[in-house]
Amino acid sequence: MSANLDWSNLGFSYIKTPYRYVARFKDGKWSDGELTADDKVVLTECAGVLQYAQTAFEGLKAYMTKDGKIVTFRPDLNAERMEQSAARLEMPVFPKEKFLEAVDMVISANKDYVPPYGSGATLYLRPFMFGSSAVIGVKPAQEYEFRMFCTPVGPYFKGGAKPITIRVSDYDRAAPRGTGHIKAGLNYAMSLYAIVDAHEKGFDENMYLDAATRTYVEETGGANFIFVTKDGKVVTPKSDSILPSITRRSLCYVAENILGMTVEHRPVRFDEVKDFAECGLCGTAAVISPVGKIYDHGKEICLPSGMEEMGPVTKKLYDTLTGIQMGRLPAPEGWIREIK
Ligand SMILES: *Cc1c(COP(=O)(O)O)cnc(C)c1O
Repeated sequence: MSANLDWSNLGFSYIKTPYRYVARFKDGKWSDGELTADDKVVLTECAGVLQYAQTAFEGLKAYMTKDGKIVTFRPDLNAERMEQSAARLEMPVFPKEKFLEAVDMVISANKDYVPPYGSGATLYLRPFMFGSSAVIGVKPAQEYEFRMFCTPVGPYFKGGAKPITIRVSDYDRAAPRGTGHIKAGLNYAMSLYAIVDAHEKGFDENMYLDAATRTYVEETGGANFIFVTKDGKVVTPKSDSILPSITRRSLCYVAENILGMTVEHRPVRFDEVKDFAECGLCGTAAVISPVGKIYDHGKEICLPSGMEEMGPVTKKLYDTLTGIQMGRLPAPEGWIREIK
């Protein structure tokens, strides 16, 4: 039976659901992993995560499709990215097969919290891993926990996708050869100052430039850029310090292989941005949020798509990808994992 929630008015905030998954790493190996009703994590005050931020996370969604199936979208890529994040932070890798099993277990156990098709709401899954044993000298922890909980989240755009205004940030997100390419909590901790400041000044997001030269576009705090040129090509910035968004990679595949567009994945200079026709931010939360205006130290770049609605190419990409996710359009091989 479906949980009695006001699905279409949910926001993006934590709602506790009945079950979550936990596996523990000790003496060099992972425990079997199990579901628990206990949402509390009890740790030593000296845990690696609390002292030196040894933690990484993932984010993905479960959807109810048109024909009533519960599905996830490319969870194998979240599993692989989490393996890469763990390796870079000297944490033990949580195996992909176990990750996928945990996805199935958590969704099945909380089935009543998968929002109905058409509500616009989804069930957001948050896998995460952290050093749980005591660490005082700077080194990796000996013990870890891998957890996954889920929380229903509302439609990202209530009343249509209005374009947002972003600003070029004076702060940097990721250093060259640093940790920008992994989903580490530390990348977010140090971005909070910049996003609070952006919001106070009336901007929705920060556009980060490359930290070394500040001439190339990187991404925002939690979404990759996708641009459309005036002659209809899709362009996405390439850099080793950008987090490889699964949404962005999927949109580029859709553009090239389903919509027959030309896609370029290459370094994008900031001074090219004024010549683009459309701009969007892509990530699991919104799929694509259209950008209408980019503020750069007193100068404004107004995208020709304007402040009223998504540009036509962005819209087509958005409709195609969400159509695949919601079961309205056929999916490329291996993209949809049904939860039984
Ligand atoms: C999670 C994240 C994204 C979006 O990735 P998706 O896999 O599409 O959800 C983009 N940038 C950053 C910095 C992120 O942490």
